[in-house]
Amino acid sequence: VNFIEANDPQVWSAISDEITRQQDGLEMIASENYTSPAVQQALGSVLTNKYAEGYPGRRYYGGCEHVDMIEDLARDRAKELFGAEFANVQPHAGSQANSAVYLALLEPGDTVLGLDLAHGGHLTHGMKLNVSGMLYNFHSYGVRKEDCRIDFDQVAKLAREHKPKLIIAGASAYPREIPHGKFKEIADEVGAKLMVDMAHYAGLVAAKLHDDPVKVADVVTTTVHKTLRGPRSGMILAKKEYAKVLNSRVFPGTQGGPLMHAIAGKAICFGEALRPEFKVYIQQVIDNAKVLADTLMAGGLNLVSGGTDNHLMLVDVTPLGIGGKAAETALDRCGVTVNMNMIPFDERKPMDPSGVRIGTPALTTRGMGEDEMRTVGAWMLESLKNPEDDAKHATIREQVKELCSQFPVPAAALDAEPQ
Ligand code: PLP
Repeated sequence: VNFIEANDPQVWSAISDEITRQQDGLEMIASENYTSPAVQQALGSVLTNKYAEGYPGRRYYGGCEHVDMIEDLARDRAKELFGAEFANVQPHAGSQANSAVYLALLEPGDTVLGLDLAHGGHLTHGMKLNVSGMLYNFHSYGVRKEDCRIDFDQVAKLAREHKPKLIIAGASAYPREIPHGKFKEIADEVGAKLMVDMAHYAGLVAAKLHDDPVKVADVVTTTVHKTLRGPRSGMILAKKEYAKVLNSRVFPGTQGGPLMHAIAGKAICFGEALRPEFKVYIQQVIDNAKVLADTLMAGGLNLVSGGTDNHLMLVDVTPLGIGGKAAETALDRCGVTVNMNMIPFDERKPMDPSGVRIGTPALTTRGMGEDEMRTVGAWMLESLKNPEDDAKHATIREQVKELCSQFPVPAAALDAEPQ
C-alpha cells in the first residue's frame, strides 16, 4: 500500500517526481550517494516514534531496550570499521558533530586553524556566518598556487604564529589524498590537538584506500551519507580519553533526543561497509573518478591539481568562456547533476564561480564502470562546449535517460503502483 499517496497526494506527487529524477538522471554531486533499500526502510521505520535522550543503559526515557541494542550495534560496528576506541553515533548531521567537538575541545575565543572555504574547506571550519566562525578565532591555510596541494609550509608557519588550540584537517572540495601525519607533526610541534573531518572520504578510509586519520587524530568527525553510503547524519570517533566530554557535548550540549531511525540506518550502513563488497565498490569509485578525470582533461578541460586521487574532481570551466553557473545549468539540461564550486584563487564570485565539482560515488553505486565514465565524460564535454545549444542538450538528455534505464537506482518499494 502506498500510504503516502493515499494520505497526502501533494507530498507523494513530489516524492514520485524525485524518484523519477533520481532514476532518469546522472547524479554527480560529489557529496551524494544512493542508500541501500535496507537503510531506506530503517529511515522509514517505527523507530522515528521513539524518544531516547541519553545513551544506551542510561536513558531519560522508558522503553529504550530495543533502541539501546540498535545504538550499541551502530557504535560497535563504527569502532570495528574504523579501528576507533570510541564512537558517538548520535549527531544529526556533520555540522552538529563538528559543533559538539568544538564545544568539547575549545572555549569561545580560542584559536583554530582550518582549510579556507575558498580552497575546498567546509563552512563549519570557520566561515564567518557559521557558528564556528562566530564563536572561535579561526585562521585559514590554503593550497599552493603551483599545484593546488595543501601548503604544509603555510600550515606550519600559521601554526607557529597563532599557536592554535586545535588544527582541523579535512575538506569538501579537495581532489587529492590528505596526508594526516603531516598535520599531526605540526600539531605536536605547537601543542595543538588535531581534528580530522573526513566527511567526504570516510568511505575511502573505511575501505582502507585512503590515508587513515583515526590512528593519528585526537578526534575524527564525519558525515555518514557521502562515500560511506549511509543515512543523512553525522558521527564522531575519538581516542578513549575524550569519550566523556564528547558524549556530554553531543547530548545535552548540542542536541536533545537522538534520531533512532537514523541510528538504525547507520548500524546497517556500517554493517554493509564491513563486507568485502564495499572495498570493491570504493575501488571502483576511485577508478571511475580517474577515468572521468582523464576523459575531461583529454577533451581540453583544466582540472584543479591536474587530476584526482579520490572520488571527486574540480573542473575549471572558464577556458570554455563560461562560468560555473552556466556549466551547472548546461549539464542539468542534459540530466547531469553537479554543483558549481569555487576553485582555489578564484577571481569570480561564489554565486557564479569558475568551477564545478564532480563526483563518482552515486553512479558507481548504480553499477556504472569505466566504459560508462568515458561515455558520460564525452557527453559532459559536448554539453559544456555548446552551453546554448538546446537541440544538442535534448539529444544528450535522451541518451542519458537510456543509459540510466540500464542501471536502476537502489530503492525501497515506495515507487510500486499504489494498491
Ligand atoms: N564536513 C564536511 C567536510 C562536509 O563536506 C560536510 C558536508 O558537506 C559537512 C561537514 C557537513 O555535513 P552536514 O551537511 O551533514 O551538516
